[in-house]
Amino acid sequence: MTERLPTALGLAQRIEQHLTFSLGKAPATASTRDWRLALSRAVRDAVVVPWLAAEQRTQETGHKRVYYLSMEFLVGRLLQNAVANLGLEEAARAALAGLGADYETVVLDEPDAALGNGGLGRLAICFLDSLASLAIPAYGYGIRYAHGLFRQRFRGGWQVEEPETWLNEGYAWEFERPDASLPIGFGGRIAGRVGDRAAWAPDETVLAAAFDTPVPGWRGRWANTLRLWSARPLRAFDLAAFNRGDFVGAAAPEVLAETISRVLYPDDSTPQGRELRLKQEYFFTAASIRDILRRHLAEHGDLASLPDKVAIQLNDTHPAIAGPELVRLLVDEHRLAFHEAWQTARGCLSYTNHTLLPEALERWPAELLGRVLPRHLEIVERIDAKHRAALAAAGRRAAEELRIVAPSGDLGGEVRMGDLAFVMARRVNGVSALHTALMRRTVFRELEAAHPGRIVNQTNGVTPRRWLHGCNPPLRRLLTEAIGEAWVDDLERLEELVPLVEDAGFRAAFAAAKQANKERLAGYLSARCGVTVDPGALFDVQIKRIHEYKRQLLNILETAALANALRRDPGADWTPRVKIFGGKAAPGYADAKLIIKLINDVAASINGDPALRGRLQVVFPENYNVSMAEVMIPAADLSEQVSTAGMEASGTGNMKLMLNGALTVGTLDGANVEIGERVGPENIYVFGLDAEGAARHLPFHDGAAAIAATPPLAEVVAQIESGFFSPDDPRRYDRLVEKLRRDDRYLVTADFAAYFETQRRIDRDFRTADAWTRRAALNTAKGGWFSSDRTIRGYAREMWQVEPALQTGS
Ligand SMILES: *Cc1c(COP(=O)(O)O)cnc(C)c1O
Repeated sequence: MTERLPTALGLAQRIEQHLTFSLGKAPATASTRDWRLALSRAVRDAVVVPWLAAEQRTQETGHKRVYYLSMEFLVGRLLQNAVANLGLEEAARAALAGLGADYETVVLDEPDAALGNGGLGRLAICFLDSLASLAIPAYGYGIRYAHGLFRQRFRGGWQVEEPETWLNEGYAWEFERPDASLPIGFGGRIAGRVGDRAAWAPDETVLAAAFDTPVPGWRGRWANTLRLWSARPLRAFDLAAFNRGDFVGAAAPEVLAETISRVLYPDDSTPQGRELRLKQEYFFTAASIRDILRRHLAEHGDLASLPDKVAIQLNDTHPAIAGPELVRLLVDEHRLAFHEAWQTARGCLSYTNHTLLPEALERWPAELLGRVLPRHLEIVERIDAKHRAALAAAGRRAAEELRIVAPSGDLGGEVRMGDLAFVMARRVNGVSALHTALMRRTVFRELEAAHPGRIVNQTNGVTPRRWLHGCNPPLRRLLTEAIGEAWVDDLERLEELVPLVEDAGFRAAFAAAKQANKERLAGYLSARCGVTVDPGALFDVQIKRIHEYKRQLLNILETAALANALRRDPGADWTPRVKIFGGKAAPGYADAKLIIKLINDVAASINGDPALRGRLQVVFPENYNVSMAEVMIPAADLSEQVSTAGMEASGTGNMKLMLNGALTVGTLDGANVEIGERVGPENIYVFGLDAEGAARHLPFHDGAAAIAATPPLAEVVAQIESGFFSPDDPRRYDRLVEKLRRDDRYLVTADFAAYFETQRRIDRDFRTADAWTRRAALNTAKGGWFSSDRTIRGYAREMWQVEPALQTGS
């Protein structure tokens, strides 16, 4: 397929054609945006060839298909990624230069598509890249939110949220598929029954409109589809009302329907706006399941083969209604017996658990579920009863923990979506070795005992195409010179660097690549926030959602304590550091927003102190997103992964930073454990309580004693309380301090001393630059296992039973 890709000349012609005929612009008046859209269209043309060929091949061979259902896809920019995956980088650069435009400028003009909150949504996109690169036939299914994740601004150091408008200037990548639209119902009642079958009469129906974005794999050998659903009214508007002059009333159906795909819920841990959120979940899940059945019947003509030909992966519980929906369609519309429908559905479904935090486990009041989805509640209750009866018959006590519909304060109880997803799945996976082990011992202890072997581990990964090849050109060039280009398809080849790490010339080149990236970040920070940073300083990076369990608070308290130490001993030979933060807090998460304000207040106090100039600086650019991560990660010396042990399921930022040659300072949590195993204890900084130690302190930890026993911490806490960082409002942080003292459930005070001590060791180690570079290069060399290609091969083998449709690999 590759030979059909255009040359620079061919690409230039395509770009000009699109500029003229798709955009209606002349080269002389074309803006950067026009060039970007013209290039994007030209590149999309190039993707369509392998895309259609892949679809045709899948149909002809009757190959099994993978369907990845996810409420979130944190896409970022697509242009550069598509250009690189198709091997068109040189052609695109030359073509645009010939037309008088600059490739780098054009690529950076693309707005991020932020249809996700953080790690979970970004994982989904890394998986799509790997599925396509491995030539596994797959669809990603999600929601085409009109407004993705909010844009973050700081006003007086406080986070304020503004709507994101990624669709405003048109999205160059998608194809609307009017022929694939599906009606989706809500509410209503059961209108009749025959045996197992029921006729559901919804009282509200919207149309799910399909938009397809092609996802090309590495070298353009294969391409899959990301199909996003947009909600439309069944009838555009009420003509009778319009003719009566009731223009607002006439548009009511449109407004109601489109509410469903209007916003991404800006919270990845607690469901809000409950009824609308439930409708969103059902909307995209039901449309996807029906689309899957329709395609399967068209290709294979029977339902018995469904589990052999279809693997459906649920990314967290948000699409967990897929189980009851599939059973409903099989029973009510395709006349399967209930038990047969359940077994068929189970043969197709797998579920990924992403969290053990009790407040983040989805539960729906049965009353609400019954109101929005009456037939589904019946099915859930029946599954629950049959499941417990089967366990009782097998001699297992039907433990109270095994109820899917559990009694609760609410009338009628609540539906535990994690348990539902588990019972409906052939396989359930955790996302790191530690997380999976804890899952077996805690949330799913009873279900694991009842269904041994159903839980498997698939440690997360990240795509090396975006997170090394794409974002880090200096290091990419060095790696390719050193070991050839095969590492992009087979990231474990980075192991070949291990002997080179002993070569002084290689280390110098590695250090030069890092330095170039640090200078690029310095330029970015200067342009974006008007701050000047010293690229010779240690770049210490914590970028991720702001959450108490991720402990940005620990980091900023340590930063303030370091500032005190520097002020006290100005003559000492300190290691200059730039502390870099990036991240958004959920708009309703007051304590996380207060931590943002504290970081900004501490930053102002440190950055404004002449005694600290050239030694310590804190920068926190607003609106952290994928494209900001792509600039920060290659420039990091130190990767902050300091979550309370047992609370971070995996993390993927930790993997991106390791691959780009940052050393990790972290707790034994999530995939940090596996990072440490691979890189070796001398090349990672592990500190603090482990998961067992943390569990012994919880659920309740009195921080007052730990504060008193840790003088640098006690000093900072006293400063916060005295209004040192907030002279305009000395009481601002009372709540934060109170929580640290009385109810420090994230164990910030317990881990502070170990963290502070470890950071001082890092200061010393960083000064031996060559030894630091050696360890940084070993992090890159040992990071290959964290490719999402490895993760997807694991899912394919152990969960989906699917093979690639092409022989890949170089
Ligand atoms: C990778 C990534 C994340 C996840 O980061 P963690 O440190 O694993 O929480 C979140 N947001 C963006 C933009 C990312 O690229």
